[in-house]
Amino acid sequence: MMTGTAFVATCDLAAQVRGRAIPAARLERTLATGVGWVPANLALTGFGHLAEGSPFGSTGDLRLLPDPASAIELPADGETPGIRLYLADQTGLDGVPWAGCPRSFLAAALRELRESAGLELRAAFEHEFMLDGPDGEAPFSFQRLRTAEPFGTDLVELLEHAGLEPECWLPEYGPGQFEITLRPAPALVAADRAVLLRELVRDLARRRGRRATFAPIADPEDVGNGVHVHFSLRAADGDPVMYDAGGPGRLSDVAARFAAGILRHAPAVLAVTAPNPVSYLRLTPHRWSAGGVFLAERNREALLRIAPTVEIGGAGPAAQLHLEYRAADATANPWLVLGTLVRAGLAGLAGGERAHVWPESATEADLAGEPALPGSLETSLAALERDPVARGWLPPTLLDAFLAVRRAELAEVAGLSAAELCRKVVDAY
Ligand code: GLU
Ligand code: MG
Repeated sequence: MMTGTAFVATCDLAAQVRGRAIPAARLERTLATGVGWVPANLALTGFGHLAEGSPFGSTGDLRLLPDPASAIELPADGETPGIRLYLADQTGLDGVPWAGCPRSFLAAALRELRESAGLELRAAFEHEFMLDGPDGEAPFSFQRLRTAEPFGTDLVELLEHAGLEPECWLPEYGPGQFEITLRPAPALVAADRAVLLRELVRDLARRRGRRATFAPIADPEDVGNGVHVHFSLRAADGDPVMYDAGGPGRLSDVAARFAAGILRHAPAVLAVTAPNPVSYLRLTPHRWSAGGVFLAERNREALLRIAPTVEIGGAGPAAQLHLEYRAADATANPWLVLGTLVRAGLAGLAGGERAHVWPESATEADLAGEPALPGSLETSLAALERDPVARGWLPPTLLDAFLAVRRAELAEVAGLSAAELCRKVVDAY
């Protein structure tokens, strides 16, 4: 029996989690009929303003319909009461999914993957972020890990309690930088967890008197905070389908074709996965973010990396082999990111050609001819608009709102220096 309040939330186009709280006594009713919501809320920028050029006006009403399976419990902590958090689908007043709903966009893409290709997607989001406070400690060091205490241990316990299945908590390379990984899960669950994880990290940091930022890059001269999306395809019976011992990079035909779709539509895909002006300061070569549009075995400069498999103890590679998409960040909505990767992968399956696999031994000179990533948000937005296939992945309402939000953010930061831009995004994320 729940006491206190529950928060019913959506994650919007600027990857901000917004919603409404209800008292425990209203829970049953809210699970059945949701809470009120407003279409124009989808047109808020990451900096908190309604985007000019938004397709929404002062009219219209929606429901945030909570998904009971998404619920997590945040325990009370000192003065801060506990709360239950639900993620919601945005629907019309009749309960029909709204065309602007990012969570429904992912659900529809997964349905299409199941119905047209007989495939399921499993995924895991790997997040990097920076904690403020003094940290002159060495990269990856025990000392850096200890400077974050009690935050680190509290975070791992909180994530376990919330059922997010943390896998590894580590001191990263950049100043004050940490990384948290979660176990793979069915795609919608994985994206829900990515939405929740960012909130839990920021919330816990606040409660410990610190501040965490997921900004793609906090300082133009420094390393970035990536969101790496690990994914694998399964048959309907759960059997892994990405592994083929004889294929280049040990990729099956299905895996190599799925990858080809992501590479082919990469400039448009980037608009969704790296949707902030700052994203493009991170996505430059030699940062191990993603340095070019290519697929490679175990190469951290690849847009798509074939992740390693562990053979210790005789574990088989088939269930482990997966791809890692490296050009996402936390200014992107996890539902849109995964849904877009699925749509691009489906286009690849339909197209039929296999992506070229660069071996681990490929040198920088070998890779020099591969296309560069878009150099700016303007470029990737234009690519999304110009790519007739990619443009069709998003329902018009969602596409129009997305472009309006992104362009409003571009206008809001016009004229800022790179350092000022980074600071603004650090504050917002
Ligand atoms: N910080 C890098 C990025 O921006 C990732 C480094 C790594 O963990 O491979 O994506
Ligand atoms: Mg990392």
